[in-house]
Amino acid sequence: MRGSIRRQHVLLTIVATVLVCAVALGAGWLAYLRQLGELERQVGDRLTLNLRAVESEIERFRYLPDVVGQDRRIADMLLEPQSRDAIAAANLYLEAVRDVSGADELYVLDLSGETLAASNWQEPGSFVGHNYAFRPYFTDAMARGNGRFYAVGVTTGKPGYFLTSRLDHGGRPLGVVVAKVDMSPLSVTWAAAGEMSAIADGEGVVFLSGDPRWLYRPMHNLDTDTVALLQAQRRYDGVDIAAAAPLTGGSADDREGLTVDVSGESYRLRLRGIEPDGWQLLSALPLEPVRREAMQIGGLAGLVSILAIGALLLARQRRQYVRLKLDQHATLERRVAERTEALAREVEERRRAEAELRATQENLIHAAKLAALGRMSAAIVHEVSQPLSALDNTLAAAGLHAERSATGEVQRNLSNARRLLRRMQRTVKHLRTFSSRREPGPPEVVDIGGVIEAALDIVAPQARDGGVVVEAAVPAGMPAVSGNAVRLEQVFINLLLNAIEATASAGNNGVRIAATADDSGLAVEIADQGRGIPEAVMERLFEPFFTTKQTGESLGLGLSISRTLLEEFGGALRFAPREGGGTIAIVSLPLHPMRTMAKQTESA
Ligand code: ADP
Repeated sequence: MRGSIRRQHVLLTIVATVLVCAVALGAGWLAYLRQLGELERQVGDRLTLNLRAVESEIERFRYLPDVVGQDRRIADMLLEPQSRDAIAAANLYLEAVRDVSGADELYVLDLSGETLAASNWQEPGSFVGHNYAFRPYFTDAMARGNGRFYAVGVTTGKPGYFLTSRLDHGGRPLGVVVAKVDMSPLSVTWAAAGEMSAIADGEGVVFLSGDPRWLYRPMHNLDTDTVALLQAQRRYDGVDIAAAAPLTGGSADDREGLTVDVSGESYRLRLRGIEPDGWQLLSALPLEPVRREAMQIGGLAGLVSILAIGALLLARQRRQYVRLKLDQHATLERRVAERTEALAREVEERRRAEAELRATQENLIHAAKLAALGRMSAAIVHEVSQPLSALDNTLAAAGLHAERSATGEVQRNLSNARRLLRRMQRTVKHLRTFSSRREPGPPEVVDIGGVIEAALDIVAPQARDGGVVVEAAVPAGMPAVSGNAVRLEQVFINLLLNAIEATASAGNNGVRIAATADDSGLAVEIADQGRGIPEAVMERLFEPFFTTKQTGESLGLGLSISRTLLEEFGGALRFAPREGGGTIAIVSLPLHPMRTMAKQTESA
């Protein structure tokens, strides 16, 4: 049972953990996708803006080589390349136009690609005398009429956008006018704005960037042909493109968002083509805030789901607890009902047993009474037969006196006969009362003096028979006790019979019954002059059916029943040796409450 609960707990914990993880991951992933979409939109907006800026930067100078080529000074110089004046005029003109237009440099190449005149003609690092026939902008212009090319200046080392236009005269080419445009202001603006924006050339090499870490790095690995081409064109003169780390591992066709790492930080990158050069405009925004927010949302969702699961588990536990309590309550109720039923059965059984016991006890008491009567039967018979024969003699004498008409004698004989009859009546009445089987009711007020007197009357024949004199010291007006007169009479008869028998068997003749009372109760002492009670007999004195007497009349019930009867009324029975030999039986009885109450009222 406990094992299955533990298994259930483990399963619940696993399910809850999986659920929390799934919710956290799901929410985090959704938030990530949403934020990523937003980020790409922002990058897209940035691309659009930057595209406009780049295009307008180039457009400004689109027609400059053409316009410059229209000037006569340029044509004259190309027609007369030996003329110093023509060259000087062209140089001055180019310098002036450069300063006005804002172009980086302007210069003119002859058909062999050599620079004849340049706006920087008098500056150190001037283009004059340099040959640029290897540059695509020259070959393109010669072939198609114009060209455009971004490169790092071979002479100056400064990057720039080269716009070229072929100058024709009389149907044949004369030379090529070149305008070099400085695009670095764009990168300066991006750098100032902290933008990760850049421009890569047709081969994917970044040549302009707001972040210097991107500059002159290919977007992806370059093949050997491309590297060779770049070197032939000296496009990025002085830069080892082949050794530069590519920005992404993606292919050249990627137009959608790419993830790039810059110095350990991830960026979301988007590209857009710039025509006609086949350039690509790059813009990137850091992914970190997106990831952070996704993680925060995932964490929050996880937390909420933990709380929700916690609340659910709590509710479940509470439900289980309530169910358990209800079950326990029901079990308890059932047990109480079962126990009550069992108790009722027990009570009923006990009541029956008690009734049986009581009946048995009553039988025993009665048996004891009969035993006592049995013990007394000889004396009683004597008690009755003695007055009967006396009565017989008296009545015979009365007959004779009547014949002699001795009236006075007759009357004396008749009164003697009546006295004898009364004596027999009293004995018979006491015996009838004593031997009746009437069960006692509740405790009543008992006059102990009357009880002792009745007991003495009953045992009198026995005493007389044994030659024993029973002395009674029961003061008049003894306080009443609580009990039943017939029962108490039975007790005193038993004790007196034992005392008389013990005294007689010891050859003595004195038994004394004395009653005393104080506030704690009443005591009746029956002292005999027997041989005393030996230790071995004392131990078994109150055992039912224990007797040392050999006569068939003794059942050995007297003392056990006497003690039971006394205890029923709150009394007690004990034995003590009498000084000078013999035994004292001591009966103690509580006073009747009414008597105690009367006493209290008196003293109050
Ligand atoms: P029973 O008198 O029928 O034997 P009891 O219960 O009255 O039964 O007494 C039990 C025994 O206690 C007696 O047999 C007797 O040995 C002893 N006993 C009782 N009273 C006295 C007494 N006053 N003196 C000596 N022995 C006594």
